[in-house]
Amino acid sequence: MGVQQHRRSKARKRQRRAVVMKMEKPNVVTCPQCHEFKQPHRVCPACGYYDGRKVVEVEGK
Ligand SMILES: [Zn+2]
Repeated sequence: MGVQQHRRSKARKRQRRAVVMKMEKPNVVTCPQCHEFKQPHRVCPACGYYDGRKVVEVEGK
C-alpha cells in the first residue's frame, strides 16, 4: 500500500487536480442527423433522432 512521504500543500493538490479537470474530455458528440452537439448514447435533444430513426417528438419548432 502506498504511503505518502511528505504532506503536499492544498495549493499543490489543487494544482494537480486542475490539470486532471482540464484533461477530461467533454462527453459530447455531434448528431449525425442534425449535427448539433449531443451526449453519446442519448437521443438527440435537437431533432429527437437516435440510431437513424426518430424516437421522440421535439418540443417547438
Ligand atoms: Zn439531432
